[in-house]
Order: sequence, then C-alpha cells, then structure tokens
Amino acid sequence: MSAENRVNVRGVYFDNVNMEEAVDKAMGFIASEGCDYIVTPNAEIVQNCLENPENYKVINGSSMTIPDGIGVVYAAKILKTPLKCKVAGCELAEHLIEKISKTGDGVYFFGGGKATEQAPCIAKQAADKLTEKYPGLVVSGYRDGYFKDEDVPGIIDDINKSGAKLLFVCLGAPKQEKWIYANKDKLDVHLAIGLGGSLDVFSGNVKRAPKFFIKCNLEWFYRLICMPTRIGRMMKLPKFLFGTMIHKNKNIPEVPEEK
Ligand code: UDP
Repeated sequence: MSAENRVNVRGVYFDNVNMEEAVDKAMGFIASEGCDYIVTPNAEIVQNCLENPENYKVINGSSMTIPDGIGVVYAAKILKTPLKCKVAGCELAEHLIEKISKTGDGVYFFGGGKATEQAPCIAKQAADKLTEKYPGLVVSGYRDGYFKDEDVPGIIDDINKSGAKLLFVCLGAPKQEKWIYANKDKLDVHLAIGLGGSLDVFSGNVKRAPKFFIKCNLEWFYRLICMPTRIGRMMKLPKFLFGTMIHKNKNIPEVPEEK
C-alpha cells in the first residue's frame, strides 16, 4: 500500500473514508483479481502495534485500513490530521453482504466458536442468519476459528475450493491480521477482511450496543458494562490517548526487518 492520502495515527496509516467510500472501495477489490485485504484497527490495535512493532507491517500492508473506533478518530484530531468519521468493521461487513447478495459472488465465513452438541458453529449460525436477511446471499463456505498450525493448508484449500470471492476472517486481533498477511498469496479470494467478533454479532449471540450508545460514541462503554472482563484490554484506550497527547507522532518504534 502507499502511505499517500492516508492519515498517520501513531504509525498506522488510515484511509480517510466514510462508510459509503469504504463500501465502494471494497466492492472494487471484490471485482478485481488478486487478494486485497482490509484491516479495521481500533485504539487497542494501534497501541498493540506501538508495543509490538512487528505488527505495523501486517496492518500497514493492507489495501484499506479503516478506523473502527472512536479512540482512533480522537487521536487523529489530537494529531491535527482529522479523519472523517469512525467506520465500524461490522457495519462495513454487513453492507458488503447486502451488495454481494445481489451480485451472486460468494462469501466464506472463517472464525468464531466451534459447534456444540446443541448448536452449529458460530460461523454457520451467522451464515444462516445473514441468508435469512439477504436471501440472494451465496455462502460458499464456513468454519470455526479454532485450529492448529498444521490445519492451515487444509483451511486454505477449503476456502479456495469454495470459489468465494469475499472472506471474513474473525479470529480476534491481531491473530486474524497476521493470518491474512501470512496467507494472502495462497488465497484465491479477491478480498479478505479481519472482523474480530463480527460473526458473534451476525449470529445473534452478541448484541451490538443500542443506537443511543453508538450515536454518542459510547459503544466501548456499553461493551465494558456487558463484558467487564474486557477491562484489561480496554485500559489500552486511555494509554493510547494519553500517549498520543504526549508523544504525538514521535516515538514510533521502527518496524523490524522481515527475515
Ligand atoms: N476467535 C477465534 N479463534 C481464536 C481466538 C478467537 O475464532 O483462536 C474468535 C472468538 O471466538 C471471537 C472472535 O475471535 O468470535 C474475537 O472476538 P473479540 O470480540 O474479542 O474481537 P475484537 O472484535 O475485539 O477484535
């Protein structure tokens, strides 16, 4: 990717796009050959790059990087290079599902919890719910996100044989971004997106925050109330914002050379 026209927030280069522009760009990737990938970092992921600089190349190697968190939008403002708005990965994903349900291109859902005796895996549950909502949707395949390293060639084979053009990789960050980065050259899909817990939302197992919280930029707070165990992860947000105020875009660690 080129850093041109991107907004540098602590070493992560964001595309300054609104939802409509992000959807158009993503549809362009689906229509063109080669595997593009989109990442959806929030403050936690940028902070994670600052603490683990080897992750910069994974995130900045994307074809599009959208700010999936109000913390990133605030940071861009602090840095005096404002981003237009937050672009939630989960919403971008649903717009793409709606669009491709009309084009006939297939989607593969990869990630989320395994099947239990009572219920199919989360990816299958999400696929069923989305097909109900968008009847033309072609689900090329799905699988849960719990696997060993030696399973990866089989997973890639399954995705490629499915003929999917769009791949949702939902393994949590930064695992999903690293997985896409490591395997993008072996994938026949046209677009892979790292989407964290989106399959949990699409399957109906996790509720997104009520509109009021989203509108007031308090979705993070709602998630914290619902899942107080996330407090440790969420402490990265104030750390990131204070760090941005103090260091601005200085003190960004160098990306280690690839071996
Ligand atoms: N997950 C997975 N494989 C793993 C670890 C996690 O498929 O090895 C899934 C997990 O089941 C959940 C998602 O990844 O569905 C991570 O959700 P979370 O809300 O933590 O992600 P975030 O959106 O915050 O990155």
